[in-house]
Amino acid sequence: MAKQIALTARPSFARIAEEHYGDRKLAAALAGYNGIRDAKAVVKGQLIELPPKRELVAPKRVAATRAAFAPPNGLQEILATFGDIYKFLKADGTIDPKWELQQIASAPLPYPIPLAWDRTKLAKSMRVHRKLVPVINEVFTKLDAAGLRSKVRTYGGGYSFRAKRTSSKLSTHCWGIAIDLDPTTNALGSVGDMDPGVVEVFRSCGFKWGGDWTGRGKDPMHFQFCTGY
Ligand SMILES: [Zn+2]
Repeated sequence: MAKQIALTARPSFARIAEEHYGDRKLAAALAGYNGIRDAKAVVKGQLIELPPKRELVAPKRVAATRAAFAPPNGLQEILATFGDIYKFLKADGTIDPKWELQQIASAPLPYPIPLAWDRTKLAKSMRVHRKLVPVINEVFTKLDAAGLRSKVRTYGGGYSFRAKRTSSKLSTHCWGIAIDLDPTTNALGSVGDMDPGVVEVFRSCGFKWGGDWTGRGKDPMHFQFCTGY
């Protein structure tokens, strides 16, 4: 996990960005990284993460391949590309079922993968954002073509919504733009055993790998189709 600081009342993200990164222009990216759309709505004492600067700077676009498109960077682009989930969030932190009906689809896999929580069962598809359906197909077709099929042993989950606590950041799994693979050997905070070739194929299709994060936030089971969040 990156460094964290507690916010004082009416924090100025511009000031924090200036102080920690030497660049006030990173204010919006820093707020968005923390899942905060309106800096004024921040609660006093709320913890925000200060990721390495490279996480806040928009990366060079991944060249769009046949099926894939470029991943969004930062919260505003995620909302614009995959839908404004906040409009579906209820006061108690749960989600309107319409969100899932409108945005989440079943992405068929070119070959089945055992489920992490019950290896006797095979996943033939993954529940992800409807726009990611062709991307998922592309990733696993490429893995198969590269002879890496056996390197992904289990599927740990795609779309998942957990009730949002006040001031907590929504997971990218809430948009259906993240998938977890081989969770038993790639626990949060561990180095894990994800195959570098698998990581490379995901990268080539526009995914960011959670194993690239540092410290407690290192998440080697996790691949997400966005950056800067
Ligand atoms: Zn994950």
